[in-house]
Amino acid sequence: MVLRQEESIGLDYLNLYMNRGDTMDRKFRNLIAYKVSKNISKEFHIQAIMCQAIIERTNIFRNISDGNFKKQEFNIEDIYDKALEAVDNTKNLVIMFNDFPICAYYHACCGGSTENSEYLLNTKIDYLRGITCQECMLNKESDSIVDLDLEELESIFKCNMSQNLMNEYSINNMLKILKKTNGNRIENILVFNKEIKGSVFSENLNLESSRFGFRPIKIRFYTKGIGHGLGLCQYGANEKAKNNWDYKKILNNYYTNVTIYKLDDFSLDLPIKNKKIFIDAGHGGEDTGYTNGSLTEKEISLKVTLKLKEKLEKVGACVYLSRSSDEYISLDKRVDMIKKSNPDFLISIHLNKSKFEGVSGAEAIYYWGDMNGKSIGENILSNLKKKMNIKNRGVKEGSIYILKESACNGVYCELGYISNPLESELLSKSDFIDNIANNIVYSILEYYENNILT
Ligand SMILES: [Zn+2]
Ligand SMILES: [Zn+2]
Repeated sequence: MVLRQEESIGLDYLNLYMNRGDTMDRKFRNLIAYKVSKNISKEFHIQAIMCQAIIERTNIFRNISDGNFKKQEFNIEDIYDKALEAVDNTKNLVIMFNDFPICAYYHACCGGSTENSEYLLNTKIDYLRGITCQECMLNKESDSIVDLDLEELESIFKCNMSQNLMNEYSINNMLKILKKTNGNRIENILVFNKEIKGSVFSENLNLESSRFGFRPIKIRFYTKGIGHGLGLCQYGANEKAKNNWDYKKILNNYYTNVTIYKLDDFSLDLPIKNKKIFIDAGHGGEDTGYTNGSLTEKEISLKVTLKLKEKLEKVGACVYLSRSSDEYISLDKRVDMIKKSNPDFLISIHLNKSKFEGVSGAEAIYYWGDMNGKSIGENILSNLKKKMNIKNRGVKEGSIYILKESACNGVYCELGYISNPLESELLSKSDFIDNIANNIVYSILEYYENNILT
């Protein structure tokens, strides 16, 4: 691919963004392992833990795709070794249904069979179909008991026992199962005079499961299984793993008609796809800007601009220019053009000059209060420093005409000192210009990606 060139000069943004899947485990390895550590016991079989790793990765990936991903703090010390092993064994694998990551529900122990999605979510999800889970049927460890006073029951669900204390009282007047699922969970139950969903009932009573029965002692609830019963049953998964099922077979058992997909081949939308970016090459025509011998600010700003346009378009942006040749354009005309194209971001390219030859480096200015301009400016300067060792002179707040009048988010960049012998020599080289453009593109991508991720 064409992209090799960028890699060779040390930038990996095309790796990062053209094919985000490849970065999934590079970026989220620890987070996935942390979630695995939190959500499944390290005593479980490695194949069951691998299922959990694929589930966690799928859920993170789904949130990223939906734009719902939230960065989160976690403690690396909470991660156990087998979790990392499971993550690495399943690198970049996610569960897909119709080319979209599934919402990978799971629970601790189904108690004999899992449930259809309608039971909990009131909506049919094709890959969440109830199946029988032999292992849990035989498992007594997840059975539990909850005792409750009738008055408590009354107050939890805000319903009334019969007020007439002299009447005969039948257990049917207190609790009556109205409907069960095929998997033998309570779907609806009548509590005194009020109909309650089984899932709501068990949740309110802190029953471990909505697979329950009862008999009048006080009122004693017997539950089987732990959790809501949707998707993968961890206990069952572990038992199956012990019987030599691998993670693929287990996941395909609990999720109906899904595909286990390796994200390396999967490309999400680029973070700046269709973003409108306006690049304003400073000066032009009779207005040369600063000069040093034959080197002019107008020429360099145009070169950077044209490179930027080419590279930004390659990563999906929609690019507008105030000029693409050596012509004079007034500031007001520039402002008009910017307003007309109504960009998401404006970047104005300039160079600086000092009467002291030794002064060097890049700086950026954003309009008062424009935090987007500030962030992108900071990214640009720090990448220029990190990757090209261009001195970072800092991002400043200021009242630059073009930023103020065009009233859009943006940054005014002065990429170096034309008066500095070393910088002016570098600025006359096309490699150097190319590299500056790469770093600006990278900085913009970085900004938008962080924006997507936070
Ligand atoms: Zn089960
Ligand atoms: Zn200028």
